[in-house]
Amino acid sequence: MKYRLFVVLAALGIATMSHAAVSPVLVIHGGAGVIKRDMTPAKEKAVRAAMTLALQNGYAQLKAGKPALDAVTAAITVLEDDPNFNAGKGSVFTHDGKNEMDAAIMDGNTLRAGAVADVQRVKNPILLARAVMEHSPHVMLAGEGAEEFAKEQGITLVDPSYFRTEERLQQLQKALKEDAAKQPHAEVETAKHFGTVGAVALDVEGHLAAGTSTGGMTDKRWGRIGDSPIIGAGTYANSGCAVSGTGWGEYYIRTVAAHEICMMVTQMRVPLNRAAAQVINQEIPSMGGNGGAIALDTDGHIAIPFNTDGMYRGWIGADGVAHVAIYGDEDDGIAEPPAPADSTAQP
Ligand code: ASP
Repeated sequence: MKYRLFVVLAALGIATMSHAAVSPVLVIHGGAGVIKRDMTPAKEKAVRAAMTLALQNGYAQLKAGKPALDAVTAAITVLEDDPNFNAGKGSVFTHDGKNEMDAAIMDGNTLRAGAVADVQRVKNPILLARAVMEHSPHVMLAGEGAEEFAKEQGITLVDPSYFRTEERLQQLQKALKEDAAKQPHAEVETAKHFGTVGAVALDVEGHLAAGTSTGGMTDKRWGRIGDSPIIGAGTYANSGCAVSGTGWGEYYIRTVAAHEICMMVTQMRVPLNRAAAQVINQEIPSMGGNGGAIALDTDGHIAIPFNTDGMYRGWIGADGVAHVAIYGDEDDGIAEPPAPADSTAQP
């Protein structure tokens, strides 16, 4: 099993508790459901370009002194608008041939959070999640009620056909054939059925935020809602840690993955990379799940563990250069930290 953990503090400039001195950082993912043999040069190019744009747009917010929430929102909307990612346009199909999207955002500084589930007409679900957080007394809205609220908030609604892409339709057809042949989706095959986008950011004030947006898993049924909009499962941020997950959501819910990582970091003082590896590469696989996550702490440490073929991922820090990688074995020029002394963190 492969995993990648990056500590890039040296490259980012050391953040301190002094507000003026905090060096902002943005980390994003575009899903852990990457399978190398399914990639084409054209798709790779498009994905890298979109990831770079998302990093640049998000980082521009941080450089302008805007809150981490703005960076998270700016980065995620780019990925939602790009059909190559399983969020917004390009979301995967449900068993019934629909696109049902989930999203969440959390402000680590105030512990405020907003989430939406099963929305089918909201162009940018992350913007609605943010509106739920900022303009409603609730944390999570679902389905038609969420869309009603979107209308009241002036959030752009589109015809459901906007979200459809041929590639996702083919993925559904393949999954339906497997269903008909009563072939369970093997674990490695399941990677094809997910994707998701997310971002975590540290702003100049030293505040963190996390956000995640997804179409969920191909062939999902019965109003299934994954981990992404569930605060603590696929998305979480507090004053010391921010996490966005991607993977087989049921396992992220059962391990309360994002919250678990952050509790280890902020309560138990476990280094971020070890905490993230333990949950993503040990606890989740030991139960039969898979996937990855991005995690960030207030010192600017980054961890990106995953146990799939690849994971669309990227980060940008003090040097202002967008670093983007796709495959597990890809040399992205970031030094990996030494293996933890405690080898229990090894998958
Ligand atoms: N975690 C998402 C879900 O289960 C899928 C993904 O990350 O690709 O809904």
